[in-house]
Amino acid sequence: MSNDDHKPTTTDAGIPVSSDEHSLTVGRDGPILLHDHYLIEQMANFNRERIPERQPHAKGFGAFGHFEVSKDISAYTKAAVFQPGTKTDTLLRFSTVAGERGSPDTWRDPRGFALKFYTSEGNYDMVGNNTPVFFLRDPLKFQHFIRSQKRRADNGLRDHDMQWDFWTLSPESAHQVTWLMGDRGIPKDWRHMNGYSSHTYMWVNAKGERFWVKYHFKTDQGIDFLPQDEADRLAGTDGDYHRRDLFDSIKRGEHPSWTLKVQIMPFDEAKTYRFNPFDLTKVWPHSDYPLQEVGRLTLNRNPTDYHTEIEQAAFEPNNLVPGIGISPDKMLLGRMFAYADAHRARMGVNYKQIPVNRPKSPVNSYSKDGAMRVQNVSDPVYAPNSKGGPQADPERYPETAVWSADGEFVREAYTLRKDDDDFGQPGTLVREVMDDAARDRLVSNVVGHLKAGVSQSVLARAFEYWRNIDKDIGDRIEKGVKGS
Ligand code: NDP
Repeated sequence: MSNDDHKPTTTDAGIPVSSDEHSLTVGRDGPILLHDHYLIEQMANFNRERIPERQPHAKGFGAFGHFEVSKDISAYTKAAVFQPGTKTDTLLRFSTVAGERGSPDTWRDPRGFALKFYTSEGNYDMVGNNTPVFFLRDPLKFQHFIRSQKRRADNGLRDHDMQWDFWTLSPESAHQVTWLMGDRGIPKDWRHMNGYSSHTYMWVNAKGERFWVKYHFKTDQGIDFLPQDEADRLAGTDGDYHRRDLFDSIKRGEHPSWTLKVQIMPFDEAKTYRFNPFDLTKVWPHSDYPLQEVGRLTLNRNPTDYHTEIEQAAFEPNNLVPGIGISPDKMLLGRMFAYADAHRARMGVNYKQIPVNRPKSPVNSYSKDGAMRVQNVSDPVYAPNSKGGPQADPERYPETAVWSADGEFVREAYTLRKDDDDFGQPGTLVREVMDDAARDRLVSNVVGHLKAGVSQSVLARAFEYWRNIDKDIGDRIEKGVKGS
């Protein structure tokens, strides 16, 4: 069939094909021929369409936009992306944590908030969540934690007993579990939730002065949540509810935005602060470190190819630009390895050459070859060299984001500070931040979760866990589960 209005179908080599519908056969009713390369190419490509899903954060979607600095915070960081008036292209990916790639958007779970800034000094990634804290503080427990939230070995089912078993044996999870079981555990959609760096990072200014910083991306749409029954209904009727909401609102021209605010701690205060400021299970109370505005993040462009622009998007907290560094947060130190390694495992060593991951600033590295290298390299391919290759510039880019440490090699928990305990901050959340209605929903959510297949011994630990957070809430949960 010839049709002047359509481009001719081709093979992947650009060769026009003669049919979109019929395989090549011996006679109309005879067998298919092996040399029908177009058919073979279609079948072979189809068999290889999926790349391994992320482990965790498999289910997600995102959009492009920009970040614009509105205030002058150059006293704290020299990062080009945060200098007054700077506007930077961005990509933001939202996700759930434990669910697989096809799982419902509205299951109770933290949400990923992974951000890539295409800055003039290379890509800067902030792999955050919609919560300011996390379940753990040591990366050795992370793999075990995620396995406990995913599926059993025997029947491949999710299992609340496994989840509560892990949580109640890991009291450092109490703050994040309280958050998760409250209203913030199922956001109305991604537009109506905040994003947090959760980790503490280091900022360095032009004079070389160092600060500790936490990021809070506050939604300009307002916080909103889904009650459990509505989330359950949506999980059955529209598993992609959050994805649809983001895509449709951007398509309509309603561009969601977030105002970035930061908490800044002077470098030396970290040594004596009443909480360990690098413990990922803790916040810095606002009254100690008030929020300061930086700028606004806006999403205004949908992807046109989910696979190339979102599924293959690679965020990694090790992507840090001059003026921004890491902190002694052990979880962050673990993630500095884990993310890039996950991308290498999913997409191969040259994943940074996929257009969505490619920096908009020049790349002058000495990485060479490997599967799927598509950008040419040129000689010299080694350093040092006398052949005009790139050279590090320590005068212009000194290693400034550093701290000092000394001690024996040990496998031990962080040294406890005056106010460090696992139940204090979740207790404050329950008693001082939530109102009566929010507390009622928290109790109801936990009771519903615990009633779904949790064994007696784990239940007993769960009641105690909640009583440690708040005596009254724990008693109400026990009563709710036991039905008296
Ligand atoms: P504040 O009263 O200054 O802050 C409480 C914060 O809690 C609010 O600003 C809001 O943060 C957040 N919040 C409101 N409702 C809920 C909810 N239902 N579930 C979870 N978070 C909610 O007190 P503090 O800074 O002293 O913190 C007290 C407790 O508040 C902490 O222990 C922590 O659990 C929680 N919190 C603290 C944050 C911090 O960085 N200090 C950030 C978020 C929560 P937001 O505006 O970011 O939504």
